[in-house]
Amino acid sequence: MSKLLVIGAGGVSSVAVHKMAQLIAAKTGPFSEIFLASRTLPKCEAIAESVKQRTGVAIETAQIDADDVPAMTALIEQVRPALVVNLALPYQDLPIMDACLATKTDYLDTANYEPRDEAKFEYKWQWDYHDRFKNAGIMALLGSGFDPGVTSIFTSWLKKHHFDRIDTLDILDCNGGDHGQHFATNFNPEINIREVTAPARHWQNGEWVETPALSHKQEFDFEAVGPKNMYLMYHEEIESLKTHIPEIKRIRFWMTFGDAYLTHLEVLQNVGMTRIDPVMYEGREIIPLQFLKAVLPEPASLGETTKGNTNIGVIATGEKDSVQKTLYVKNICSHEAAFEETGNQGVSYTTGVPAMIGSALMLSGQWSGDGVFNMEEFDPDPFMEMLNAHGLPWTLEELDGPLEF
Ligand code: NDP
Repeated sequence: MSKLLVIGAGGVSSVAVHKMAQLIAAKTGPFSEIFLASRTLPKCEAIAESVKQRTGVAIETAQIDADDVPAMTALIEQVRPALVVNLALPYQDLPIMDACLATKTDYLDTANYEPRDEAKFEYKWQWDYHDRFKNAGIMALLGSGFDPGVTSIFTSWLKKHHFDRIDTLDILDCNGGDHGQHFATNFNPEINIREVTAPARHWQNGEWVETPALSHKQEFDFEAVGPKNMYLMYHEEIESLKTHIPEIKRIRFWMTFGDAYLTHLEVLQNVGMTRIDPVMYEGREIIPLQFLKAVLPEPASLGETTKGNTNIGVIATGEKDSVQKTLYVKNICSHEAAFEETGNQGVSYTTGVPAMIGSALMLSGQWSGDGVFNMEEFDPDPFMEMLNAHGLPWTLEELDGPLEF
């Protein structure tokens, strides 16, 4: 029995559930049934309806506040899934992990825990669960999205097949899509803005180097997109990759932003709309960033209008048989094709597909263990094969040398 309990009903969840249902319909994967629960029931019902129309697979739905550990525990006891797939927000990671511990159920997510009142992305909170998961005989797979997730797998696959030693790693995340809105984010606006406005950090010679947010810019010519400005940022896979592949001397993460996005963001920051501390408004406390989220377009609503491609990959430089080389592995994903297949834009697609693949590898037993794990701790080969088979094909090319900046 490989029943899935998926939590959250946003864009990422919608893609993951469509892809899981495709496997059930084709009778080719390890999944038997899907149960979808989130804070807003009509969003679950809308996904269930689309999945039924597109694949013929029926899924059950329920309302849940995943911050409420006893309620989450009761839901898991009622549904009895083989795996809980957390596609809600990073704030829900720990409560859902607590409910998994209470019910001895495996766990998967796509983003690391962060406390609501502090824009801090660190694995330490979830890594602290390792011994408890190990003693309970259950597994947690962290970060099974694109970045983290596929970028971690690209790196471990390069290390396994093409390098004796990796020296430098650059992760390049480009969204060349245009959604036609003045300002919108491609995944949850609150999480996205917290991430973009946090100081940049990269790993170099055994220590963190911190620089102000969005202060380092480089132009890069992305295939299927064209030249774009990309900015040095902190991203959580740097922390896990430097831990699990400690030989890498420098790990950097770059993300592209258009000038219009950055101008809007600067204004919103300047007027205080990105603050995450409470302010009094008409006699009650509100968090400005949460209020901003309420007036911005929902990422899940951008699918129909978004045109263009994403291009996300890793560039690694290192040695194989004493010869130095630089390799670039990447995926290009079309927003229009993602929408055609699942009714969602490419950023949700590039995250939801890897969540489905991680779930499939856990439930088929190809990836197993007791404790809390990151993606690069497992054999990358079956994951790389499934990316090609399930809508996120990748390419490998050799570059003349490392990035010159
Ligand atoms: P959305 O905001 O579109 O969806 C989040 C969903 O979680 C919503 O349905 C929301 O409910 C639900 N939710 C929020 N709080 C609770 C709660 N307390 N209990 C139950 N459900 C809750 O986000 P996305 O789909 O864009 O992103 C989902 C996750 O994927 C996020 O954690 C994001 O950080 C991560 N992500 C990871 C990426 C990667 O490459 N690794 C890339 C992009 C995203 P409601 O509808 O009521 O608000």
